[in-house]
Amino acid sequence: MRAKLTSGEVVTLPKDCACQTHEGPHWLYLDEMERAEASRALKAHDLFEVIFIEQVRLKAKVWNMERQGIVDLIPDQVEVCQ
Ligand SMILES: [Zn+2]
Repeated sequence: MRAKLTSGEVVTLPKDCACQTHEGPHWLYLDEMERAEASRALKAHDLFEVIFIEQVRLKAKVWNMERQGIVDLIPDQVEVCQ
């Protein structure tokens, strides 16, 4: 995953943990996990659960983006194709 910063610079987000299961920053991995959970809740028609998960997920995502000066996330081509 690459990111556009407030300076306009585009950088590749580095791995920041010791996990064997994913690439890139850990908070983006958690974001993906929570998005999958929201998707499962949506398929189960549990809309209150979807809203709750998404509120928590997006609050954390905005917090992480702001603390690192990220204005936009740019998925890698491989991730787009999946
Ligand atoms: Zn990790």
